[in-house]
Amino acid sequence: MKKLTLSIVLLFASVTLFAQSPKYIFYFIGDGMGFAHVQTTEAALAAREGKIGFNALNFTQFPYVGMAQTYCSNSLITDSAAAGTALATGEKTSSGTIGMNADHSQDLESIAVKAKNEGLKVGVLTSVSIDHATPAAFYAHQSSRSHYKEIANWLPKTGFDLYAGSGLLKISDNYYDSISKHCGYTVVRGKDAKLRGKKVVWVEKEGKSSGNIALAIDRKEDDMALAEMVERSIEYLNKDAKKGFFMMIEGGQIDWAAHSNDAASIVYETIDMDNAVAVALEFYKKYPTQTLIVVTADHETGGMTLGADKTGYGTKMDLLFTQDGSQGVVGKDKSKAINAEAGVGFTSGSHTAAFVPVFAIGVGAEKFSGVMNNTDIPKFIQEIIEKQ
Ligand SMILES: [Zn+2]
Repeated sequence: MKKLTLSIVLLFASVTLFAQSPKYIFYFIGDGMGFAHVQTTEAALAAREGKIGFNALNFTQFPYVGMAQTYCSNSLITDSAAAGTALATGEKTSSGTIGMNADHSQDLESIAVKAKNEGLKVGVLTSVSIDHATPAAFYAHQSSRSHYKEIANWLPKTGFDLYAGSGLLKISDNYYDSISKHCGYTVVRGKDAKLRGKKVVWVEKEGKSSGNIALAIDRKEDDMALAEMVERSIEYLNKDAKKGFFMMIEGGQIDWAAHSNDAASIVYETIDMDNAVAVALEFYKKYPTQTLIVVTADHETGGMTLGADKTGYGTKMDLLFTQDGSQGVVGKDKSKAINAEAGVGFTSGSHTAAFVPVFAIGVGAEKFSGVMNNTDIPKFIQEIIEKQ
């Protein structure tokens, strides 16, 4: 009898303990990052060491790998608004739509909002502006991705603990003052910002672009960088995160570099996102049974591939590291010449419907294998958040 009572007590204690165990979710979205973006990066890193093959990034070594279909409700080829909405809410919608259904009759709830309602702290981080399509899909509801002003108004309304990025595109002069005074946000600026207060909006310094933090290939000492943003955000969100935290981190400029067919910038941006993943991985190592890291993309951009007409069976991927600035700095001709010489090809300056990769490690990571729809990804994450 005594033994039975003891085991019941132990069972109850372990159930309670498990129920209280916080969850830490890192959801990385490489905007436009298809398989070739990842592979070209790894091939360039190997070639730089004189090797043929691929030097693995952190996230390609994750134990679970799958691929996702990215089509949206009205097109085989999606855009970041519909794809962001799918990755945020688990529902397909029409091109250009943020956090609403296809005919804009209904708002859709994102997993970030669900996580917040479950008591997790929530952070939305991006290397572009906070009102851009991918981050916006996690907190806003708009019929068009270009309603930047309205999207910015959703930011305090949804009220996540932390928003970080280069800035906001179309806000009134007193926007930051107003969200500080009326919505409890502390607005901090620049690389060395200290994240403090109850809720934080973290943007670049005045005078720097509000549209994007500097591309990794062009970065200067005093520019914000995604890895540091993740590091500082973990410290901030984890301070009193009794139930844990949910963080969405977007590498937003892989897509932009791919739209311009700028292979060198794609490589630098992909490495940059991987550096941010490395920070999350360090955290995972401390809490391996409570942490989930998912790395995926919203769609492929550029129809990028390894191998091009000019080089045939030969490649010189290390040449990508000789481009000493983004295409905007060195010029289109030079960047295109380097692509051709390196053996990187593009079929498009737009998005494609190609599969995107999904990598996962940690609690529940086994769900992320095989072929899935992009809408499955947030559903799986939600199941993991809700479990126990
Ligand atoms: Zn794009």
